[in-house]
Amino acid sequence: MDAGDKLKSVSEHMVLEAAEDYTPPSAAQRAPCGFSPDELKHFARDGAAGAASATAPPKRTSLSEEKKSALGVTYAAMPGGKRIALLKTLLTSACERDCYYCPFRAGRDFRRVTFKPDEMARAFLELQRARIAEGMFLSSGIIGGGARIQDQLIATAEVLRLKLGYRGYLHLKIMPGAERAQVERAMQLADRLSINLEAPNSSRLARLAPHKVFTEELVQPLRWVEEVRRTQPARLGWNGRWPSTTTQFVVGGADETDLELLSTTESLHRQVRLSRAYFSAFHPVSDTPLENRPAENPWREFRLYQSSFLLRDYGFDLEELQFSREGNLPLEVDPKIAWARINLADAPVEVNRADRQALLRVPGIGPKTVDAVLAARRRGRLLHMNELKALGVIVKRAAPYLLVDGRQAARQLSLFD
Ligand code: SF4
Repeated sequence: MDAGDKLKSVSEHMVLEAAEDYTPPSAAQRAPCGFSPDELKHFARDGAAGAASATAPPKRTSLSEEKKSALGVTYAAMPGGKRIALLKTLLTSACERDCYYCPFRAGRDFRRVTFKPDEMARAFLELQRARIAEGMFLSSGIIGGGARIQDQLIATAEVLRLKLGYRGYLHLKIMPGAERAQVERAMQLADRLSINLEAPNSSRLARLAPHKVFTEELVQPLRWVEEVRRTQPARLGWNGRWPSTTTQFVVGGADETDLELLSTTESLHRQVRLSRAYFSAFHPVSDTPLENRPAENPWREFRLYQSSFLLRDYGFDLEELQFSREGNLPLEVDPKIAWARINLADAPVEVNRADRQALLRVPGIGPKTVDAVLAARRRGRLLHMNELKALGVIVKRAAPYLLVDGRQAARQLSLFD
């Protein structure tokens, strides 16, 4: 089998991790309150309701999009917002572990493929030279223990960086069972490191992946990364910066609650400076112990993203979010709107006087828009909603909670209908 066929084989079975990208649920899966696709795009732009999404391909190449996708190439938004074609693949699709949700778990019957580090590095570089892929996200199944596979991942990164002179984006997975020295080496080679917690705590994890150890195997590497970043600021990564870290949760696979997921996410933001958590709605995979479990509603995933951004970027505390008695976010309402209905409906925010934090709490206003509003205020008083619209405010969402020059913004809305 050549490298291209191996990549296709991995991709065929891979349930792609969100990694750098996230696409909001489609209009067909619209929540009861019915946001339009346009509104969803606004959310993504403002960051309040979903990260930048993986959508339009940035460059044309001779290979069709279908063929690229068959190799495992997907379009992803980078931390700075730039979109690139990312090869997401595995060093081996063989695995000795038996996570209940995973298509690569031991014992599932399909043909496994394995790359040697040099082979993987060269295969990727060929795709990069042909402008089919611009960056790589490399993970792996586990054979012979996590530390052994981590060595192979590092060896691939070393071939790319040191032998082949690759200077593009590289996201490396940290394997459960990796050692501290390996994590430190990976930090010197990658732009981003991730380790999937899968579940918010050890008891939920036991229902998804009985042989993964929550604190020692999964949380500990994130702590090591943060310790290195904090104590060795001068010994930086390959491009002069230490890599960022992310994690992923399977949502809806272990009856975990949104409150559990967001509590763990919030403490990871705080304690190990996690850049972000990805939430992946559970989908049953045939021939696994969870094959009969129903797929999770993608709107749950979406509400978790919205809430995690409120916690990370908007100054919200977990206690301020609305949860049901069972500890879940309502699916039918944006969590920022749910908060604003209770807290701002009778106390709208004057756009000319409010500080950054208060403006950020208004639905339809995100971090970039706040900067634009504050800059415009320095030039003169804002008098009309059309000025706010030009600055990027989503006026229909913001109007019920804003005063513009002392007048209720909602009254001016008819101008936009
Ligand atoms: S260790 Fe990773 S690849 Fe192996 S079964 Fe678990 S999730 Fe799948």
